[in-house]
Amino acid sequence: MTSRTTAEWQAADARHFLHPFTDFKDLAKKGSRIIKKAENIYLWDSEGHKILDAMSGLWCVNMGYGQQPLIDAAAQQMKELPFYNAFFQTSTTPAIELAEVLAEVAPPHFQHVFFTSSGSEGNDTVVRMVRRYWDVLGQPNRQVIIGRINGYHGSTMAGASLGGMSGMHAQGGLPIPDITHIDQPHWYELGGSQSRDEFGITAARWLEDKILAVGPDRVAAFIGEPVQGAGGVIVPPATYWPEIQRICDKYGILLVSDEVICGFGRTGNWFGCETMGSKPDLMTFAKGVTSGYIPLGGVMVGERIAKVLIEQGGEFNHGFTYSGHPTACAVALANIRLMREQDVVRKVREELGPHLAQRFAELAKHPLVGEVQTCGMMGAVQLVKDKATRKAFDSALEVGMVCRTHCFNNGLIMRAVGDRMIVAPPLVMTVAQIDEMADLIQKVLDLTLAELNQRGWL
Ligand SMILES: *Cc1c(COP(=O)(O)O)cnc(C)c1O
Repeated sequence: MTSRTTAEWQAADARHFLHPFTDFKDLAKKGSRIIKKAENIYLWDSEGHKILDAMSGLWCVNMGYGQQPLIDAAAQQMKELPFYNAFFQTSTTPAIELAEVLAEVAPPHFQHVFFTSSGSEGNDTVVRMVRRYWDVLGQPNRQVIIGRINGYHGSTMAGASLGGMSGMHAQGGLPIPDITHIDQPHWYELGGSQSRDEFGITAARWLEDKILAVGPDRVAAFIGEPVQGAGGVIVPPATYWPEIQRICDKYGILLVSDEVICGFGRTGNWFGCETMGSKPDLMTFAKGVTSGYIPLGGVMVGERIAKVLIEQGGEFNHGFTYSGHPTACAVALANIRLMREQDVVRKVREELGPHLAQRFAELAKHPLVGEVQTCGMMGAVQLVKDKATRKAFDSALEVGMVCRTHCFNNGLIMRAVGDRMIVAPPLVMTVAQIDEMADLIQKVLDLTLAELNQRGWL
């Protein structure tokens, strides 16, 4: 690795590296922040600033940075067998073992897994698998998959189509055919005068309305994140997922839970569907399965689908060079072993999640904060102009970005989704570190309030 100044790194970055979800010209002007190293829950940039990473990288470094067992697992596997494929009737031992372990930690009706290298590829696999399932069953008209506005399912053609991000649909002719969307269970924005629980039922019934509009015999599946992540950590009312489940069952429609963020302990159970009370037929996973140390994703396939594909399906014409990549699988195995040894999922459910919830409840008293939501180790703070009326700021003011700049300047990485500030910190945080993070958020909110007053925006 060459040694260069920050400015030199930034210049080279701007010359050659096109970043994801980035206005290239704008970033070239500002210069990117260069992250040089990390340990536990902290990052250091090229100027030596220490930063608390309250986003776990990108929702993935669940076990924190610098975990030696994961590093050793990768090194050892690379020495022994860095790569071999799973095509042509071959297999590798890390992939077999990981499949076995995933079947142990997933709800019992999941006994099979299809590996990919990312969440997006996982959701592409979901589309192919769902449509194949109905084909094999002699119902080829069942093609339509229903997703949600403001849902996020990745950035490939199918992933972006399943997701409901208007900015993504505006580029590249998306969504692809036979994917349609219903609105999100976002009580604060859409709930009006209904209680949260009433609104949960209302929002779930939008699925039934859509099924009836499309035609029940044309609908193949519904896909949703247990808690919407990239959409702003939107925790649905407790009534929502059970009602979604009831509707899917009523029409025989497959239910897909995108567990890319919620899987692997984030919500206080191994999978978010367990926290939210649904029993999906497919679960997409990625991110936390390896704590982000190496790319790996996949789809857990429930018995209903596995049985049909295995017994009646013949050859499934789908797969990737890196499906079941032995080094990636070895890291995932080490990661899950570590999670079990440290009893992380229970800690999130019984200790860390409740403490985060308590600290966020205090943040709700802040004059800028309209609502807070948490679920396990994820949380959102909604900034509003007027608490009493839930009145939002003019979106052109980009108040969330004002707050995010204060975060950066105060050694905290928090993400802004519009005016909703979100965290998904590592699951290995201590209670004291949750306090440290919450104190920083409090400080950043005060600084944001002061700046908004100064600008006359309140
Ligand atoms: C990140 C994410 C994806 C996409 O995963 P990639 O690995 O970036 O392709 C899919 N679904 C959800 C819920 C995600 O958060």
